[in-house]
Amino acid sequence: MKPTPRELWRREQEACFWSGCKANIRNGDIMECHEIIGGSDRAKTILLPAFWLWLCREHHNQLSSRPSQESLIEQLAVKKWADPERYDPAKVIKMWRPNCTPELVREIVALVGREYRRIARDFA
Ligand SMILES: [Zn+2]
Repeated sequence: MKPTPRELWRREQEACFWSGCKANIRNGDIMECHEIIGGSDRAKTILLPAFWLWLCREHHNQLSSRPSQESLIEQLAVKKWADPERYDPAKVIKMWRPNCTPELVREIVALVGREYRRIARDFA
């Protein structure tokens, strides 16, 4: 059977995306593929690379499948930091709040940018 895009992506990943985390599959750490939005949307988000985070078990266990706005911003900043090619915040935000206004999308993207700059400053 042909591997799925998610399986191919998994095979490319090594270190936990969470900034500052040293967990790495190469060191034998148990890693998980997390969807930023899960629950009843997981059947969709499991197919969409913008939603995937590669995390150690500890970081994976800290996240809910229905993130708060604060957690969503943090997770999007981690995605931008570790997997910029697949970073697509508008897609994620619209799945998170299907009726959200363009203003709210812009506001959240700006907050993600601020969190991203903090990560870049602290962990570069
Ligand atoms: Zn971690």
